Amino acid sequence: RSVTVMDIDFVNRTQYQFLVEDIFPALQHKEKKFIVTANPEIVMKAQEDDAFKKVIYEADYTVPDGIGIILAAKLLETPLEERIAGFDLALDLLNYADEHGLSCYFLGAKEEVNEKAVKRVQADYPNIHIAGRHNGYFDIGDRDLAEEIAATAPDIVLVAAGFPKQEKWIAAYKDLFDHGVFMGVGGTFDILAG
Ligand code: UDP
Repeated sequence: RSVTVMDIDFVNRTQYQFLVEDIFPALQHKEKKFIVTANPEIVMKAQEDDAFKKVIYEADYTVPDGIGIILAAKLLETPLEERIAGFDLALDLLNYADEHGLSCYFLGAKEEVNEKAVKRVQADYPNIHIAGRHNGYFDIGDRDLAEEIAATAPDIVLVAAGFPKQEKWIAAYKDLFDHGVFMGVGGTFDILAG
């Protein structure tokens, strides 16, 4: 079930349905999934940047993150079920990870923001296993870093390095991982760090 807006197929389900039907089972069965949360800015960027469009097309799911996408779908007379915001999705993933003792890797943001965000997560979600963390100011070609992260075998990889860097990194390196749910989460660590 999807709706196409400007060549991008969006998940057309409620956030709850999406998680319960696809993402939680994927975590349970240790599958690999790449979620792109696309806001209007990202959709516009994909129109002019073929490399970026290709990255989006590598995702297993693109969710409509932003009221602009919802409005565009409505104008096209193919309305979407609801907006699914990256930040909300990230919190739901953290909750699920806490309930099931899963491991998470936190890649992105400035060093002090990353450190603070991970400390908050540790305090608020005590059953999450912190697989590791690294700031977002790495070189996209740094394969050693990606291999180090893959070696921690995280169940969830949150990448908060802004778009398109976060999505390009996931697309480039997810093959190194045996399993995991990967998602670019933009400014989420800044919010978590408070
Ligand atoms: N960021 C990063 N590495 C970079 C560029 C940005 O880790 O090379 C971080 C930045 O510190 C911030 C996050 O990416 O924490 C989100 O940035 P922004 O709000 O610009 O991204 P958006 O939410 O628009 O995708």
